Order: sequence, then C-alpha cells, then structure tokens
Amino acid sequence: MIARRLASVPPTVFSEMSALAVRTGALNLGQGFPDVDGPASVIAAAQEALRSGANQYAPGIGVPELRAAIARHQQRHYGLDIDPDREVVVTTGCTEAIAATLLALVDPGDEVVVLEPYYDSYVAVLEMCGARRRPVTLRAPDFRPDLDELRAAITRDTRLVLLNTPHNPTGTVLTREELQVVADLAVEHDVIVVTDEVYEHLVFDDARSAEGHVPISTLPGMGERTLTLSSVGKSYSLTGWKVGWATGPAHLVQAVLAAKQWLTFTSGAPLQPAVAHALDHEPDWPRELARDLQRRRDLLCDGLTAAGLAPRVPEGTYFATTDVSHLGWPDGRALCLALPELAGVVAIPAQAFYDDAEAGRQLVRWAFCKQPDVISEGVRRLAAADLSR
Ligand code: GLN
Repeated sequence: MIARRLASVPPTVFSEMSALAVRTGALNLGQGFPDVDGPASVIAAAQEALRSGANQYAPGIGVPELRAAIARHQQRHYGLDIDPDREVVVTTGCTEAIAATLLALVDPGDEVVVLEPYYDSYVAVLEMCGARRRPVTLRAPDFRPDLDELRAAITRDTRLVLLNTPHNPTGTVLTREELQVVADLAVEHDVIVVTDEVYEHLVFDDARSAEGHVPISTLPGMGERTLTLSSVGKSYSLTGWKVGWATGPAHLVQAVLAAKQWLTFTSGAPLQPAVAHALDHEPDWPRELARDLQRRRDLLCDGLTAAGLAPRVPEGTYFATTDVSHLGWPDGRALCLALPELAGVVAIPAQAFYDDAEAGRQLVRWAFCKQPDVISEGVRRLAAADLSR
C-alpha cells in the first residue's frame, strides 16, 4: 500500500522496541526518554498558560516570548547574536525541524552528507525528499569521524551536510578540530550545514575539560550557512512536549518555515510560554541534569562492564554502545529480540542506524536516562543471564 518514497524505510525501531518492553514487561533501556519529569516550575507555567487562554493557534513562526528566549539562550551559552523575529522558528520537536529543513532545502537527486550511525528520522525524511545519501561512518570502537573520509565526502556535489553533535547513538561529541574540517569544506564548496544539537547540554566532564559542545555555527564563516536545530525535550526532560526550534540566517529560517507551515501549521500554543520560562528561569537545570546523568552513565557503564558487556563510555547524550560480537549472535538485532526473555531487558540494535550494515551489525545501544535503581536492576539482570549463543 505504501508510497515508494517510504517503502524502503522500516518502522521506527524506537516504537518497536518500546512495544516489546511493554509486551514482555522487560526493563526498557532502549528508547531514550527519562523516567522522571522536568522542572516543576516549567510544568506549572504550562498549566498556567492552559488556564489563561493560550489555547488557540500560535503564530507559525512561534510565540514572540519563546523566540526571544531562544535567542537569549544562544547568546548566553554560545555568544551568538540571533534576531528573534527573523532568525528563529519554533517547531513540533526537533524531529519536525529536521523534516521541515530537509523538505525545504533538498531536491530529488541532491546529495546529502550525513554522519552514520544516524538518528533514524534522518533517513526516512531523506527518502521522502528523494535525496542521495552520502554517509560518513563513525566506526567502533572510538566512533570518531575519519577526517579523510569527511574530506572525500563533502564535494561540490554536496547540497547539504547533516551533522549531529553530541551524537546519538554513539555519544561522541565532535571536537572543534573535527568541526573545522567540515566548516572549511562547507565554505569551500558553498554548502549548507544543518546541525542537530538536541543533546547540547548533556555533555560529561571528560568532554567538557576538552571544550564541551561546540556549535558549528560559531566557527568563522559558518553563521551564514548553518541551521542549528534543538529542542526542550532532552535538556529539560520533557521529551513528550515536542517543542523544538531552528535558528540560523533569515533566508534559511524562512525556508524551514515555508515547509513547516504545511506540516503542522503551528506548534502547541500553551507549551511555548512554558518553554520560554524554562530557558529564561531555569538556565542551570540542564547542567544539573548532565551532572546527574554522568553518575548514571558511570553506573550503567560499570555495570555493563562487570556483566561482560563493556561499552564505549560516551562523552555526551543518554546512550552507551556495546559491541556484542563475542557473544556469538548473528547480529545485535537478534540479541535485542531475545533479550527480554533472556534477561528481562530491552535495548536498541544500532544497525538500524547504519547504511553500512557491517559497521553496525554487532552494536547494541543502552539508555541511561533512567532512575539509578532501574539501571542497577537492568545491569544486575544482564550479569545474571547467560547471553552467549
Ligand atoms: N531520541 C530518542 C532515542 O534516540 C527517542 C526518539 C524516538 O523515539 N523517536 O532513543
């Protein structure tokens, strides 16, 4: 039944694996969503907005107070000067920002360079656009981009480079040097860069002591060619709110809006003032979350290591990845499908995020945005189970 542009795209692995967790009653270390809500003052601000009449369509570009708060956020954290009336558009989660951006900027046949493994919606939307995908693979065990591969990938045939840092699923935080390679090539070939930075605040000490998260739009020559995408979901543990945004030069933001108006028209009105409240009045909340997450990262990674599933310790995000080839399963997906029965745990097979099936075949992603007792119980179950085949 399905149209050709979607026929080759499987259903999202996140829904599949969360449904598996519900069906089997297994602990869900798969889909990345926190099991504790974001700040109470932000939820109260949403309740207040619901009660005080913010219940009709918001402007397509977003309510003024949220656009202003996003501009202040970019200034406060990165020293970026953003015009809230022309250089910001509010979207229904970063996922809509990704879709609207690609639909607005990519024609059928255009070449798009993308880091793989990738968040699965990139591929679905690139298929809907009829784009040609040019993946650059972050390879285990260190999951850093090969700079020569990047140089070979970004050419005058490239329409757009789609980055993600901090990177899901690997947890890699791209360094200034790595980003500079992309920036130099983007300037040389007059290419647009779209960067998904939803984990911008979820960076851990080791990466911070290097430099932490660097938005590529802060590099020389990049402000005029970069669309930066983010959202409230990960930074404030409000993934179900689905409020995101794109910032960048007016002509690119206008393009995003041109597509967005035909996707959702406008985004949820009562949540927008509440997100503005979060950005303006709870500026330190994400940093606290990152500190707390770092402890949970260590709990998960130490537990996995003790269970014989040593992961690569991530520099940012919610996720750690283990190469499971030593266990003898044909691939990570087969293991993930068996895990609920073997151990009462659900994880995500990372091969869903690769074009290069070999590079991702044996990788399994674990989420640590869960309460410590959930993580402890998960690794206890994994340690107690016989996972070899
Ligand atoms: N970004 C989250 C993850 O990677 C969830 C995304 C989703 O469910 N679509 O787990």
